[in-house]
Amino acid sequence: MPATFDETAQSTTWDRAREVVPRGVSSGHRVGWRQVLVKASGAYVWDEDGNRYTDYLNAWGPIVLGHCDRRVNEAVFQAVNTCDLTGVGPQRGEYELAEKICEVMPSAQKVAFCTSGTDATMHAVHVARAATGRLKVLKFHGSYHGWNDHVAVGSSRADLTTTSALNTPNGGGLHPAVVGDVVVVEWNDFDGLRAAFAEHGDALAAAFAEGYVHSFGCVAAKPGFLELLRELCTANGVVLVFDEVKTGFRAAIGGYQSICGITPDLTAFGKAIANGYSLAGLAGSDDLMGHLGAYTKDEATIDGTYNASPYALAAANKTLEIMESDDVFTTLHARGARMREGIQQAIDEAGAVATVTGLGSEWCVYFRDEAPANFREAMQSDGERYARYHASLLAQGVLEPAFPTGDRRLNAATSEADVEKTLECVRRALRAAAD
Ligand code: PLP
Repeated sequence: MPATFDETAQSTTWDRAREVVPRGVSSGHRVGWRQVLVKASGAYVWDEDGNRYTDYLNAWGPIVLGHCDRRVNEAVFQAVNTCDLTGVGPQRGEYELAEKICEVMPSAQKVAFCTSGTDATMHAVHVARAATGRLKVLKFHGSYHGWNDHVAVGSSRADLTTTSALNTPNGGGLHPAVVGDVVVVEWNDFDGLRAAFAEHGDALAAAFAEGYVHSFGCVAAKPGFLELLRELCTANGVVLVFDEVKTGFRAAIGGYQSICGITPDLTAFGKAIANGYSLAGLAGSDDLMGHLGAYTKDEATIDGTYNASPYALAAANKTLEIMESDDVFTTLHARGARMREGIQQAIDEAGAVATVTGLGSEWCVYFRDEAPANFREAMQSDGERYARYHASLLAQGVLEPAFPTGDRRLNAATSEADVEKTLECVRRALRAAAD
């Protein structure tokens, strides 16, 4: 881990939190900051010492319109003041949101809602198994799909070498038999993909892919790779699942599938759909989604006290409405493109061994001479130089991921002036990285 990733950071708040919460936080990526953030608005967040940061983490994806968006919050207040959780029948916001998603997302004929990306990918596995009667799942090396045992394999950074095994479990406590049923293929490895289908094709229930990988930064599929994946899934009767937890409602309102033109059978989504409120879901064909919801031993079940809660639905319906009425994607793409162009220019001027990649509102800076094509290559980004780059940006009030392959993103409240100011900070950070 880079030097800035300081687990022993001292502050009264951290000390107090560590007394009662494991490592002080309930989500692993929040470890390691000295900062404790107490306020957020638009493009900015503030720490408890009063320092302001331009936020390019955006909670790892959900904040897409801007922090504490007043319009979204008002829709939420109205929903919870009208009818809160009941546990009876359909919610109005539920079918309205599902109708909207079916309109904009190519793979969606039916949609079911849950609370996290981890829930959504778990339900995708259950549906695929119920539909095919098979057990195995294929996924790509380095891609993170949440913490359910079926897919929490092959994206651990611990012990990763140029020759380490692909299908290592992501953490302790996973069931070895479940892990053993996961086939892991290197991203962009055409021959490896063909070989995996040749060996396991008739035993695979599902193949999972982030159509555009954000788990180790910003790494596109090589031309033809997604087409090959689609073709092999169709030929072998395997359910193709796109994990659009990060790209859905961020790369485009219809997800990355609406950009790349490959339609999966199922889509897991979450994060940006509700601008920070906890909503996720699974979309797919009528046929496949028909396997979800029954209480029979042969079908998959979706059940959750907080699934499709009225406040999260209200947030999502309002977020999608604003995305369209305010032409949010034009703004996000223009600002993101300018950021990438400016960073590349700064890299060239500094003569730094670095490269910037990205899509729409997202980007990643790798301290290596060329853009990575897979997980191992991405992980070869120089951690020492990244640590200096990151520390310099943080000291200048720019909040970015604390590890080298973290993807970063802006939200629609980030102004042109914010971007230009950040580019000045990037120029100084590149000089600091070189020292
Ligand atoms: N899939 C991808 C691609 C993700 O990036 C994440 C989380 O970062 C997940 C799934 C899991 O989503 P959640 O954190 O909502 O459980």
